[in-house]
Amino acid sequence: MSKIRFTAISESQSRTPLTIDENGRRSEHFATNVFNEEKMLQFLTKEAYDSVKGAIFSGSKIDRKIADQVAEAMKCWAINMGATHYTHWFQPLTGTTAEKHDAFFDLLPDGRALEKFGGGQLVQQEPDASSFPHGGIRNTFEARGYTAWDPTSPAFLYGTTLCIPTIFVAYTGEALDNKAPLLRALSAVDSAATGVAKYFDKNVSKVNATLGWEQEYFLIDESLAMSRPDLVMTGRTLVGQTAAKGQQLDDHYFGVIPSRVLSFMRHLEKECTKLGIPVKTRHNEVAPNQFELAPVFEEANLAVDHNLLLMDVMDKVAESHKLKVLFHEKPFAGINGSGKHNNWSLATDTGVNLLSPGSTPMKNLQFLTFFVNTIKAVDTYEELLRSSIASASNDHRLGANEAPPAIFSIFIGKQLSTVLDELEGVSKGKLSPEEKTELKLNVVGKIPEIMLDNTDRNRTSPFAFTGNKFEMRGVGSKTNCAKPMMVLNTIVAKQLNDFKKEVDVLIDKKNLKKDEAIFNVLREYIKTSKRIRFDGDGYSQEWEKEAKKRKLSNNRTTPDAIQVLTAKDSLELFNAMNVMSEVEVRARQEVELESYIMHLQIEGRVFNELVYGYVIPAAIEYQNILLANVGGLKEIYGAGYKKLSDSQLDIIQRISGHLEILKTKTDAMVNERKKANVIADSKSKADAYCNKVKPYFDEIRYHCDKLERLVSDKHWPLTKYRELLFVK
Ligand code: ADP
Ligand code: MG
Repeated sequence: MSKIRFTAISESQSRTPLTIDENGRRSEHFATNVFNEEKMLQFLTKEAYDSVKGAIFSGSKIDRKIADQVAEAMKCWAINMGATHYTHWFQPLTGTTAEKHDAFFDLLPDGRALEKFGGGQLVQQEPDASSFPHGGIRNTFEARGYTAWDPTSPAFLYGTTLCIPTIFVAYTGEALDNKAPLLRALSAVDSAATGVAKYFDKNVSKVNATLGWEQEYFLIDESLAMSRPDLVMTGRTLVGQTAAKGQQLDDHYFGVIPSRVLSFMRHLEKECTKLGIPVKTRHNEVAPNQFELAPVFEEANLAVDHNLLLMDVMDKVAESHKLKVLFHEKPFAGINGSGKHNNWSLATDTGVNLLSPGSTPMKNLQFLTFFVNTIKAVDTYEELLRSSIASASNDHRLGANEAPPAIFSIFIGKQLSTVLDELEGVSKGKLSPEEKTELKLNVVGKIPEIMLDNTDRNRTSPFAFTGNKFEMRGVGSKTNCAKPMMVLNTIVAKQLNDFKKEVDVLIDKKNLKKDEAIFNVLREYIKTSKRIRFDGDGYSQEWEKEAKKRKLSNNRTTPDAIQVLTAKDSLELFNAMNVMSEVEVRARQEVELESYIMHLQIEGRVFNELVYGYVIPAAIEYQNILLANVGGLKEIYGAGYKKLSDSQLDIIQRISGHLEILKTKTDAMVNERKKANVIADSKSKADAYCNKVKPYFDEIRYHCDKLERLVSDKHWPLTKYRELLFVK
């Protein structure tokens, strides 16, 4: 019998919370390890500082001489802070980050040693990147990959390494990462939104997309987590009888944070603060051992980097607390999974949140413009937006039995719905003075008042307006936010461009006043994007039927969801907005399919190991004890044994029943896996894994969990849910 479970339990019970010294006020330590504006002012010449600022503001190029200066300054600062190495920190299509450290240390030809770091090393590197996913890009063209400095995200010191955020591209310029397309999308939304914002304020010269993510995660004792091969290999429990108590008592949500966890959180926040990640909120989530962390929102590219960095810091900090962070979207059946809500808005360089209602009718018309255009963009590209959050692990939330559903819809609340309904009635063409006054006073002018008492919030909605931002709720807890942010900003950029064209035509050709033209175009958008608005229960069967009538997509699985990436409209969109070429889009789809296949393949293998290596042996071992007992009874009581061994015989039989089906199903699954593995085409292979292999997972699990109930606790080798989730 495996002893790991019991050793793990006893180890987990001997832990005590670490003492964390938070060193006083956070604001004093904020970003001490970041080469930010403050350090640039301190370490750079005025010329170099202006050049970097220009690159951040308008994407202007930094020439080599300046790059040398910046590199020298970064090096001095970093070495002063104790750095020994530097790395280009990038986001390959694996979903996480990658780095290859180089020492500053170098030798001169005469053998003298020194610390060296020049503009060349800052601006570009060529990591041996042949093993990163590329979806065919590098087969077709050229094997080399380059990382290139992204000056919009400041370098930071992590441990003793200076990390320089970079994009990762192929020799031919195609993006091999998530950051490059995101930066292009952010640039597209900047120019599109600036164009539209100028209708309202000529002084606007830049618009930044803002992102505030909310990271949900589980924390499990390290020994307990390590005792489960499925958690170690797949990030989730593939089997496990749900505990008698789950989240039904709602006693964990916003409850007192357990002291070991609180110690972890304080340590984590201390590290985040130094790295410039503006963490703000921490609380218990709905499920036992589930928590959430949210920062103050930031410019989207920076926020994406910070989320990726956070996940890494979390892993490292957890290690010193003997805890394991689970980022998987559904680590445990029967209780809530984890997401990463993406709160998104647009902010001007004049300090205005374009999705925040203002104090005057003009400001509100600006708000309504961006509000309605976002709704229209999501309506047009709902399926594409859905595709951006598809993954094998997130399939357990979207389209499974968990909010939000796979169908995209927008919740805006009753009051704003009323406003849109009224705008729908605006006259075509020129507006009478009376109508204008009426609109100003009673429709557009009333918005701030309305927002104040906007209390209804729909928690099942995948895309909700929450006062001064939209909240995209389907993003998975593991997902790199760059993916949904790239799509969202691209579709909004496209929509705002279209809007501006239409408004300009009405102004130039039809002689309408600016506000009349805007009202006219918005009215049509409100009419044509109605199907995406839904204020009811996103879970319900009625909605599913209704959504079908409205022709909204309902892609429950990743292979289905990502097909739209290469649809004609999508390719045209990405191309028109200069976000991705057809080659890049196709490569990404291929990478997503491969990743999906790989995840299911690994799960299939682990199932096989769990069944044959743990569950079947444990069941037989326990059954043998029962059999020995029955044999003993027979020996002593003769024919009378039957009556005495009724229960034992029943359990023996039930165990055999489950064993038989379990073995048959597992073998059948392996067989389907073998068939799938020889399929060459990625889509067909992913479909085979999705439709032929995966359905066995639930059946296998069912019988394993039944056996867990039948086998004596002492003989069960896999750490149980109640131990994983309730041992503090
Ligand atoms: P919850 O959804 O849990 O109720 P909040 O509504 O307080 O939480 O908002 C959570 C997140 O929204 C935070 O990360 C916050 O920084 C972010 N947020 C607030 N305003 C904006 C904005 N203008 N743009 C992007 N994110 C924002
Ligand atoms: Mg939220």
